[in-house]
Amino acid sequence: MPFDARKAFRLSIGSRWVLRYTAATTLLLVLLTTLIYHRIQGLVLDGIDDELRKHTRGINETIARENNLEAVGRLLETEIASTPPERQLAVELYDRDFQLLLQVDILSPFSAPLEPWTPSGASDVRTYRESRDSRHPYFVRVEQNALGFTRVSIHGGPDLRELDAIRDVIAWVLAVGVTLTGFIGWWLARQTLRPIAEITATAQLVSSAGNEGWLPTHGTGDELDELAQTLNRMLERIRLSADRMRRFAAQAAHELLTPLGVARTRIEVALVEDQTKELHTETLAAVLGDIERLGQSVNAVLDIARSGAGLDPDRVEEIDLSELLHSLAEFYRPLAEDKGLEFPSPEPLDCSVLGDRGWLHQLFTNLIDNAIKFSAEGGAVRLTISQTPGFVRVSLSDSGAGIAAQDRPKIFDRFYRGDGAQTPGQGLGLALALEIARAHGGAIEYEAPPAGGSIFHVQLPTGSRADGPPGEP
Ligand code: ADP
Repeated sequence: MPFDARKAFRLSIGSRWVLRYTAATTLLLVLLTTLIYHRIQGLVLDGIDDELRKHTRGINETIARENNLEAVGRLLETEIASTPPERQLAVELYDRDFQLLLQVDILSPFSAPLEPWTPSGASDVRTYRESRDSRHPYFVRVEQNALGFTRVSIHGGPDLRELDAIRDVIAWVLAVGVTLTGFIGWWLARQTLRPIAEITATAQLVSSAGNEGWLPTHGTGDELDELAQTLNRMLERIRLSADRMRRFAAQAAHELLTPLGVARTRIEVALVEDQTKELHTETLAAVLGDIERLGQSVNAVLDIARSGAGLDPDRVEEIDLSELLHSLAEFYRPLAEDKGLEFPSPEPLDCSVLGDRGWLHQLFTNLIDNAIKFSAEGGAVRLTISQTPGFVRVSLSDSGAGIAAQDRPKIFDRFYRGDGAQTPGQGLGLALALEIARAHGGAIEYEAPPAGGSIFHVQLPTGSRADGPPGEP
């Protein structure tokens, strides 16, 4: 098998999270510690600067007071002796032509005389760090005095060594901090991702055939709990629809096998018995009838499957419902009149719906077909159209025997027939009508009027081309 580098080095969400978190906190810690170190360094250097200023001011005041180099020299030696020896205080006095007048120190750090320099004002000073030898860093201040210039230097070694020690401590703190934040990040990632691991493990169990379990929820209401709840709802819908499909397939197989079995028996009987040509013709005609019914059932099953998949956007158009129902009433009136039934055209109403003309035609055909089929002679079938906010309601009443209360919840079930085999039809008409209404964002309700008969109410959302597809807000 070829080596897949991407797969081999693929990091888990947890590891990526830890890496990012550690990188971010390290950056923050480095920034913070650098800032702290610079602040401390600034304070130390300010301290050295203050010390230099204090010495220079003191020396210049002595010069101004004594105006005698020897006396100044003696005073300076006393001052040097009183400063800690590790400070290595050194003083030089120059005249205005930069000629050395006096040098007082223990170990003079100066190898070169003071370079000529023109101060721009009386208070002008120069402070700098002699950094030729980093182990013996000297800080120097040059200032004007009454005679010329004063150059004072002190050794900054102890301060810089302290700074180095502080830098080492900060580096250690940084290293420990980074390790600790890495560990905390790893622990946090593990805690946060634990529910995901649980969900994955349960999902694997649930996906194995026959397992009816649910994904675990902890009632915390957080995003992961919400995810588990959403997945559970999805799982429930999938299970319900898989269940419905299983039952539908079993029913369909049963319903389709029945006419096949009947046809087979007819043919077997015809073959076994010594029949006349007329009887053979009769058998063939009966088998043809079985095949036709079989074809109708197969078509109805296919229609239900297709309408259940939703509307085809290419076939959706603006439909004048009044006009559609008027043409259906015109078409069915002769059939109704043959049974002695009245079937007037509905009162027109200005309303349009967005939908599939073929499907809506099928929906109302199924209902009208039943209304005529189940109405007793001399009665009436009536269509009325009314409007409620956002919906159009079509009511179809008939003068049939009505539907018994205990049968009403079942009439929209697939393959349900009132009196079983006695009732003509496949028991798919109302199921298909409901599926079509739902695909349009509507519904069908049954009403049993006290005076007898049945009323089917079809509710469809009104809409025009400008509103967008049906069923969508
Ligand atoms: P089919 O396609 O065979 O007509 P349907 O699904 O349309 O089946 O109807 C299912 C059952 O509902 C029918 O067998 C009948 O018992 C009952 N039914 C439907 N419409 C009416 C009606 N208008 N009056 C009385 N019973 C009805």
